[in-house]
Amino acid sequence: MEYKKILLKLSGEALAGNNAFGYDTHTMTSFCDEIIALVKKSVQVGIVVGGGNIFRGLKGANEGFDRVKGDYMGMLATVMNALALQTFFNAQGQKAKVMTSTFMEPYAERYSPDKARDYLSLGYVVIFAGGTSNPFFTTDSAAALRAVEIRSDILLKGTNVEGVYNDDPRKNPDAVMYTEVSFKEVLDKQLKVMDMTAFALCYENNMPIRVFNIHEKGNLKKIIEGQKIGTLVH
Ligand code: UDP
Repeated sequence: MEYKKILLKLSGEALAGNNAFGYDTHTMTSFCDEIIALVKKSVQVGIVVGGGNIFRGLKGANEGFDRVKGDYMGMLATVMNALALQTFFNAQGQKAKVMTSTFMEPYAERYSPDKARDYLSLGYVVIFAGGTSNPFFTTDSAAALRAVEIRSDILLKGTNVEGVYNDDPRKNPDAVMYTEVSFKEVLDKQLKVMDMTAFALCYENNMPIRVFNIHEKGNLKKIIEGQKIGTLVH
């Protein structure tokens, strides 16, 4: 196995499958299947889940919500998503803990890096919810932070596209995907990997990022086995 400990960033939208809102249970079962297969191979799996399938603070602000309250709502949405994922793991017999960035008993346990590392080493999937607990941040930043804190080998960012391109592949059919790119090149060429805060945290802490298509079944397994799927930023 190429990696022993991974931090997977799952966007809220990914949980919604082809729906614009909420959950697609078929998609969630499929993600859980793939992740459980990794745990069975003794890979430690932490997940940071987004909330975009329910609420985004910035979009809310454009529609008249208070930005800070909207961001709180977005972070609460990530807690709902984490609980949803946890139930799907449990239903398949996989131990899973939800750890939240703020106190939220009895829904979930308050996050602590030490405890998270302990749970991971005991074979739990640990789902980190509540973002960073700060407004104006994103769950990408939470993913970067948790990856560094739990000393993950890599941050895996699951997306709807195959990797990092020199242009938006949904708008430009000639956009070319990188298989490997340095942190510096990402900055120089202003490539879109994650938001700047998240990216800076990974860069400063030398946390490699692999961007890949989460909807392509088998990708996670291939990545863990060392196959070059998507784009590696390092
Ligand atoms: N959010 C926040 N601080 C954080 C993480 C998230 O304020 O540290 C809020 C923000 O409003 C964001 C929403 O939670 O829009 C959902 O997170 P995100 O947009 O990152 O979810 P994703 O796009 O991954 O589904």
